[in-house]
Amino acid sequence: MDYISNRVESLAVSATLAMSQKSSELREQGIDVINLSVGEPDFNTPDHIKAAAHRAIDENFSFYSPVPGYMSLRKAISEKLMRENGVSYSPAQIVVGNGAKQALCNVILATVNPGDEVIIPTPAWVSYVEMVKLAEGVTVELPAGIDSDFKVTPAQLESAITPRTKMILICSPSNPTGSVYTRDELQALVDVIAKYPGIIVLTDEIYEHINYTDSFTSLASFPEIADRTVVINGVSKAYAMTGWRIGYCAAPTAIAKAVNKLQGQYTSGASSIAQKAAEAAYTGSQECVAEMRAAFRRRRDLVVELASQIPGFKVNVPMGAFYLFPEVSGVLGKRYGDRVIETSADLAMYLLEEAHVATVDGGAFCAPGYIRFSYAASEDSLRQAMQRIKAAVEKLV
Ligand code: PMP
Repeated sequence: MDYISNRVESLAVSATLAMSQKSSELREQGIDVINLSVGEPDFNTPDHIKAAAHRAIDENFSFYSPVPGYMSLRKAISEKLMRENGVSYSPAQIVVGNGAKQALCNVILATVNPGDEVIIPTPAWVSYVEMVKLAEGVTVELPAGIDSDFKVTPAQLESAITPRTKMILICSPSNPTGSVYTRDELQALVDVIAKYPGIIVLTDEIYEHINYTDSFTSLASFPEIADRTVVINGVSKAYAMTGWRIGYCAAPTAIAKAVNKLQGQYTSGASSIAQKAAEAAYTGSQECVAEMRAAFRRRRDLVVELASQIPGFKVNVPMGAFYLFPEVSGVLGKRYGDRVIETSADLAMYLLEEAHVATVDGGAFCAPGYIRFSYAASEDSLRQAMQRIKAAVEKLV
């Protein structure tokens, strides 16, 4: 019997989760694996946020929440968007979901028709392409490699636009590359997009606060495209709250309404307790965000320095997020005994099995020839991991 739908059969398994699982299996066998494959802060959720969740339980926030989220949370998000990003979205234009992941998938399912084209600069986060597939849309990849700091040019963007283009999806700071578009670079892209009023701009700003450039520009802040820009953000990365599962979209009213309708049939409102915690994150002191950013920045400097010393690795200096995305073609074609490292996927597996460091093959991000590792780990683990990777790579001939 063929029980499984074509829709699900066509999806790829999340490579980051698969790698993480493989490293857990090795750990269970007693092997000391350093796991740099996952995309989450290693800090605990700050105490004042946890306290708000305790209070929410005691005050019986145990009933269904409104489908788009509590009004108090949506107000806090609306105020955050004005205060930090200078953009205006009313609470009615905000829909809170189970993480930025659901918020993204909601927007794609609510707007993309079969055959519609979605332009995605690559390397790109693993789930975008799969979400577009779920909506039966067509992904149009715009590749940008390490030599252009992983950023697409306006000309490249314009050449990808067709009458079928429904959406452009930008992620800055980027997972997996850590690149951050400057205001001027975004303006140049906006100048192109402004010529095509039918295109929705979906901007994934989940790494907004893990940004070492001292300035962040939201794509929604450009008046030329503001009325068709959807912002995705959430508490996972900025407040070390990945497990709480709170993210949101802020969208033009018609899109917010459509997302609300979809979510109402699909999952309903996100966890009531987690929403109260997220509200405390947005309304409380922002000191924790600055502290975590400073720690990530120190680690960034450390891994850039150490990874640059690995033969065959080409490294850029990521300006945001917590990933390094070295180009590894200098290592490909080499061998260790019988083992030939033909691809970056072979290299990621070799590093896991020989160096006991879990990374992710760039192929998972539409960018074979690279590997991604997260530096959201202690400085000790990072030093050890880099040393092990270097030793394993030096064994290749
Ligand atoms: N967008 C990007 C670029 C991400 O890296 C992630 C998390 N890995 C998400 C969205 C999803 O975040 P959340 O935990 O809020 O669902």
